[in-house]
Amino acid sequence: MSAGPRPCRVCGQFFTPVRLDAVTCSSTCRQRRHRGGDLAYLAGLISWEQREQRQWHDAVAADIQTHKDEKAAMLKRREANRQRRQERLLIEALGRAELEKLRASGDYDVVVAEARAPGRQ
Ligand SMILES: [Zn+2]
Repeated sequence: MSAGPRPCRVCGQFFTPVRLDAVTCSSTCRQRRHRGGDLAYLAGLISWEQREQRQWHDAVAADIQTHKDEKAAMLKRREANRQRRQERLLIEALGRAELEKLRASGDYDVVVAEARAPGRQ
């Protein structure tokens, strides 16, 4: 997603967002927005300008949502990979522990022969 200049949802001034999901130009506008000032500047525009500006804001909001969805999917994949990695380590540790038990039991050679040639013995 590009984070090029976009209009502030409160004052309408174009700004270049630092955060991809920023929709206001400054902390002042952010506070105004939380106090009901969302799209406040549209009141001073004529209807076709308002329509155009609303479309702009809708497009920005859609971009932000797409970005958030992609990020959420990426985090989910990363978490799944982390779990798989942990499982692999656990399986290896358990396998090693079993192998040590087997060695200690004296059946090691029998089990290894069975594993190399299943059914023959
Ligand atoms: Zn602003």
